Amino acid sequence: MPAAMQGEMQPAIYRFKLGAFEVANILDGKVIRDGLHPSFGPERSADEARALCAANGIDPNRYLHPFIPTLVNTGNTLVLFDTGNGFLRRDYEQLRARLDDGHLVERLGAAGYKPSDIDVVVTTHGHPDHIGGLLDRGNSIFPKARYVFGATEFDFWKRGENVREARKFNRELFVKLALPLAERSTFVKPGDDVVPGIRAVDVSGHSPGMLAYHVESEGKRFLIWADTCVHYVMAVQRPEWTLDVDDDKEKAVATRKRMLEMAASERMPIASYHMPFPGIGYIEKSAGAYRWVPVSYQLNL
Ligand SMILES: [Zn+2]
Repeated sequence: MPAAMQGEMQPAIYRFKLGAFEVANILDGKVIRDGLHPSFGPERSADEARALCAANGIDPNRYLHPFIPTLVNTGNTLVLFDTGNGFLRRDYEQLRARLDDGHLVERLGAAGYKPSDIDVVVTTHGHPDHIGGLLDRGNSIFPKARYVFGATEFDFWKRGENVREARKFNRELFVKLALPLAERSTFVKPGDDVVPGIRAVDVSGHSPGMLAYHVESEGKRFLIWADTCVHYVMAVQRPEWTLDVDDDKEKAVATRKRMLEMAASERMPIASYHMPFPGIGYIEKSAGAYRWVPVSYQLNL
């Protein structure tokens, strides 16, 4: 008997040491979406987008969109950055095509953590795929955690003023999933520390108050930049192209350019929520253009 086909199999947990800290990227889920263009670069021609895809060996019509929260253990505190999709697919018909079921808690288990081990849950920004796993039917998924939100971001969704049409439903989700946690939360501004070694960095634009987090231990540095760049080719090689899911498009472009330049010049490893798993890489600048260079063994020596 020939061996049976066993189906696709891919890693979902990637953990490494950063100084005295441990960092793990955990795949919450992934979806395949249609049409990189015109989601990316609606102001550019389809031909130009196709040529960019061809030059990078990727399909212009379909793309993989993963969701990758990051976990940092400082030795004193276990900090989770973003909670993935949680139960959004179960609870909201209109999100089923765009999201995957949340696998974060099950994969945290496989990596050796219980939900009650999480001390701090940091939310980089209020979009659905980052807040989906905060609550399950109103109940806390991480029972012992305190929560951290960007002050500007939390305030924006709480007030609900000037929310663009495409984000009205997102605002409802934020009200249901994040507002109930206000009393267990602290609110940070760029430059504030979450815990010693973890500092907030302004990357607003993709959302009104999105924060990245700079992580440093024993001189080793790492940046969790959330959705600063949402695709490893389109957003990195063409940071000036606008993106449909960016809330403030002009500001998002400026933030991408600034952060890409910083990442390239400082050669810092980046955790990027929607890059191909493990969602960790470097930014290289050559001939005036940026390129995403996936991590190989740099963090495992
Ligand atoms: Zn996202």
